[in-house]
Amino acid sequence: MVRDLLGEPDSQETFRTQYGCCVTRYNYSLLRVKRAEKRLAFTRALALAQTRALAQTPSAQAQRDEERRAKFARRYSNPSDALPAACAGLLSLNRYAKHATCSRNNREEIYRLKTGLLHRLIDEGLLVTASLHRSADQLCDRCGGSGTYYTETYTRLTYRGHYDHPYVEEYDATCRRCQGSRRRKGRTYYVLRFAVAGQTYCWHTPQDEFGRVVPLTDATPATYDGAEEKPLEMSRSRFAEVKALLRWVIGQKLVEGEEA
Ligand SMILES: [Zn+2]
Repeated sequence: MVRDLLGEPDSQETFRTQYGCCVTRYNYSLLRVKRAEKRLAFTRALALAQTRALAQTPSAQAQRDEERRAKFARRYSNPSDALPAACAGLLSLNRYAKHATCSRNNREEIYRLKTGLLHRLIDEGLLVTASLHRSADQLCDRCGGSGTYYTETYTRLTYRGHYDHPYVEEYDATCRRCQGSRRRKGRTYYVLRFAVAGQTYCWHTPQDEFGRVVPLTDATPATYDGAEEKPLEMSRSRFAEVKALLRWVIGQKLVEGEEA
């Protein structure tokens, strides 16, 4: 956002912090910042940020979730009736989780919901086949095989706006996921096939994080064919609704983090 509004920095400096990371600081002249603040684009960005912040307050979320819960209760006579819709929704969420634009928090939330739904489907007796798939070793997907991790954090534009030092930081440190080894060891996944209301769904989930042992119906390692990446067309509010539906179906409270 800083770069969108301010463009290329006037100067930059790179130094090593007390934590040993290399940080690049981008400096903008105060005059440029003040000019940028007068532009319509800044006012719009600020208004958008404030609208988003308001929509994220606990009371606004609680109210929205309450409305969703009432809607689901009207639409389905009980959570089991919503299983087909939940499976279709998870298909989209799961695809989105693999997308580069999905944030880490969002991805972790989606995978928790996925695990919850798979447990629920097994409890409902809808599992048809279960097998294992071992993925090959590959380049670390966090650092792209470089062994170092690089990110940017943008200073937030605040209403009062202290713009003497808006800057972008870049860290370049040993990758936490592969510890600099550049490789990611292959993992073992459950390949679980379900039949839900005449539809077949095949999900892939890490065996060591699944939280229960699934008896295998097929001892030979499976090939997994569901890893294709398709572009998605789903709005932000639709994603939130699908997540709320999943929480409702698996018996969690609708507000994330409070498990029933
Ligand atoms: Zn790495």
